Amino acid sequence: MPEPLTPAELLALDRRHVWHPYGPMPGRQRPLLVESASGVRLRLAEEAYGHRELVDGMASWWSALHGYNHPVLNEAAREQLGRMSHVMFGGLTHEPAVRLAARLVEITPEGLEHVFLADSGSVSVEVAVKMCLQYWLSAGRPAKHRLMTWRGGYHGDTWQPMSVCDPDGGMHSLWSGALPRQVFADAPPAGYDAGVDPAYEAHLAGLFERHAHEVAAMIVEPVVQNAGGMRFHSPGYLRVLRRLCDEHQVLLVFDEIATGFGRTGTLFACEQAGVTPDVLCVGKALTGGYLTMAAALCTSRVAEGISRGEVPVLAHGPTFMGNPLAAAVAGASVDLLLGQDWQSEVKRIESGLREGLAPAAGLPGVREVRTLGAIGVVQLDHEVDTVAASEAAVRAGVWLRPFRDLVYTMPPYVTNDADLARICGAVCAAAAAG
Ligand code: PMP
Repeated sequence: MPEPLTPAELLALDRRHVWHPYGPMPGRQRPLLVESASGVRLRLAEEAYGHRELVDGMASWWSALHGYNHPVLNEAAREQLGRMSHVMFGGLTHEPAVRLAARLVEITPEGLEHVFLADSGSVSVEVAVKMCLQYWLSAGRPAKHRLMTWRGGYHGDTWQPMSVCDPDGGMHSLWSGALPRQVFADAPPAGYDAGVDPAYEAHLAGLFERHAHEVAAMIVEPVVQNAGGMRFHSPGYLRVLRRLCDEHQVLLVFDEIATGFGRTGTLFACEQAGVTPDVLCVGKALTGGYLTMAAALCTSRVAEGISRGEVPVLAHGPTFMGNPLAAAVAGASVDLLLGQDWQSEVKRIESGLREGLAPAAGLPGVREVRTLGAIGVVQLDHEVDTVAASEAAVRAGVWLRPFRDLVYTMPPYVTNDADLARICGAVCAAAAAG
């Protein structure tokens, strides 16, 4: 065993050597040092603002549905570890990946038949894009190589996903000339219950008419645009997109990396519109937040289209593709979710969030409070002071990570009512302080 290091020594090494998400080097903010996590609680190595434990309002970037250190997921990992943690997927296969793929086909909308297991959400989006571009290449239409999306989205940090992130939030100006130039529609009109705006529908139709000849696929996050601004839109727009894609020979990709596995109240958000995409990306909660794994699922039409091409293979194969450990935990996590009345749990969280966040609406500087499924959002009328807001949350015993003009929570589904009330109190305190 290496010599134990004190929290101060670890933090000094962290500051000197470790790059953190979306941060400068060295980091500006001192991170909190987490020692362990169990249930919905993160245990810190040192006390912060009077707390050694924080209730996690973020579910580790929306992935830890069942909380931490879950006995069922631990057992699945242990059992798989005793067999093999990894073998290459080229030329070999194994039960955890086969079972997981079959299970994903079973639980996702009818028509999605084939599964590419990727090692992160961004990579699954890269694979989805590659599938769509190659589909049209194989069909003898190489001009269809651009993507279309609507503003306000977020699809990951690698190159193709970045090109379809919101141009402002995605810092396109920094990368102009380097990123592929995609076709952007205006952001979908806000409001889950707002219905379909005919003027916006016409705007979309106009873009399809002008650009379909050069566009391979339309890619969007269905119902909730997450990291691009936590905005909700009417599921009706998904039906509009399906119709326009069919009319104009454009493939439809839904990125359910954030919304999948029940977060919006249905297992997949696109179920709310009764629409099957041609390609579906899932990730994050796929492994219950234990290990990194994502997937791109496609229809037989897409797979057969690629197979008919001059180059009939999908040239993609990450080293850790189909990782058995991640696949075993993912299978256990999906079974754990579907083996319980998860709809009632998400509804319980939805009403707890609605009630608990209502007081935020009366705070100065708050523009809107909105909830959907297990998502609670307080939008300010100004850029949040992230340091002041995070500190206020920690003082209230909760871990939150506000960004842009947003203080929000996506808690684990196992959060009980008392902890949920605590999270809501912390969101309100963070909104007030930020
Ligand atoms: N798509 C969406 C909708 C996401 O929310 C994210 C992650 N926040 C990604 C893609 C990228 O996933 P990853 O961070 O696993 O690469």
